[in-house]
Amino acid sequence: MKEIESIHELNCRYKKFCDAGFHINMERGWPCKEQLELSMPMLDLVTSETNLDREMDYRGYAGTGGIEPLKHLFGNIFEVDPEQIYIGGTMSTSIMYDIVSKAMMFGFDSYKPWKDYSSIKFICPVPGYEKHFKICSTFGIEMIPISMDNNGPDMDEIEKIVASDEFVKGIWCVPLYSNPTGTIYSDEVVTRMASMKTKADDFRIFWDNAYFAHHLSDEPGKIKNIIHESKKFGFPNRVFEFASTSKITFPGGGVGLCISSIENIRWLTKASLLQLKSGDKINQLRHYFFLKDENGLKEHMLKHRQIIKPKFDLVDQVLHEELDGWNIAWWQKPKGGYFFCLKVEKNMAGRIWKKCKNAGVKITPAGSIFPYGRDPEDSYLRLAPTYPSVLELETAIRVLCVCIKLCYLENRETEENKFL
Ligand code: PLP
Repeated sequence: MKEIESIHELNCRYKKFCDAGFHINMERGWPCKEQLELSMPMLDLVTSETNLDREMDYRGYAGTGGIEPLKHLFGNIFEVDPEQIYIGGTMSTSIMYDIVSKAMMFGFDSYKPWKDYSSIKFICPVPGYEKHFKICSTFGIEMIPISMDNNGPDMDEIEKIVASDEFVKGIWCVPLYSNPTGTIYSDEVVTRMASMKTKADDFRIFWDNAYFAHHLSDEPGKIKNIIHESKKFGFPNRVFEFASTSKITFPGGGVGLCISSIENIRWLTKASLLQLKSGDKINQLRHYFFLKDENGLKEHMLKHRQIIKPKFDLVDQVLHEELDGWNIAWWQKPKGGYFFCLKVEKNMAGRIWKKCKNAGVKITPAGSIFPYGRDPEDSYLRLAPTYPSVLELETAIRVLCVCIKLCYLENRETEENKFL
């Protein structure tokens, strides 16, 4: 077993890190510059020479909800009819925000607006994606945290809650390579989610399939198609699925989509007509020319993988080198997605985050991957390895590990002093 360093040795290492003046950002799941370079050729694909389709002229107003060829492309990928696809703006989070806001203000179809209820609640599997939680906070939606294991969220708990509480109107899910745990929902979880009885008839699943194409291994994770599954069990309008090309082409310059029943897509299109008569159809066309089809997307994502997989390998390797034998931090190497989730001993995450920050390494603020920014055990940390260079990443993980070990030894010292 590796020798455990003393608090003195760790303090010396920490001081050296602090003196080095690092500025390393592992806070958010941002593609690095090399990844962004991959999509530069897309910008040359629509020019003044491009022969635009005169039937459906992408230069004009027509084309609410996305251009047909791109809807076909995504229809093939998500195994649904193109009519079940809505292409809105350039990011998926804005569509999620928008659907919650419309449900609040106007309600789904003939259902009453959520604002007319005394309270609205969402189930939030934890740890989870902070923007989902922020959308809930923005609209005053109460959040019910539910724990997760390797198969997905605790379905026994969820079934109990949704069957008995009419104010529970939704759940956030990241079913493939969850942010941040990397979890892949099992078939059983998907089927139970699609078939469960809910007290609220307008209960909706917000199925954020952000990492549908972001595999890091030769065996891509696969999840059951919840749109088909919920229809099979008689709940065709239960699911809004979301995806985007933010981490395929350009964040903010990509395309954001919603996949759902034809009825839900009609509702969304109609409810958005005034607000977004048509999105950036020229950009949609660029994406269609660039990605071409499912194989085109796969080839492109392989290029992303070649850039980012060594970073994920490195994080895992350095964590093992630094922490094996300590038994104070646990993680699983993700098979896809953008994050590592690290569980540390209780009451350490906040202090580790602060120590890292003081040494010039930014990680996601501890607590923010929980509703209300509160991790009850203060023990989860999220690492986003894609943005820094390989060299920076190795430094950042070593800084992090020294901080983890220092916090643990400081805690132990405090505990021991209690009994003196
Ligand atoms: N959903 C999840 C689960 C994410 O992790 C992220 C980005 O980190 C997003 C959505 C952002 O998607 P978009 O850029 O399409 O809004």
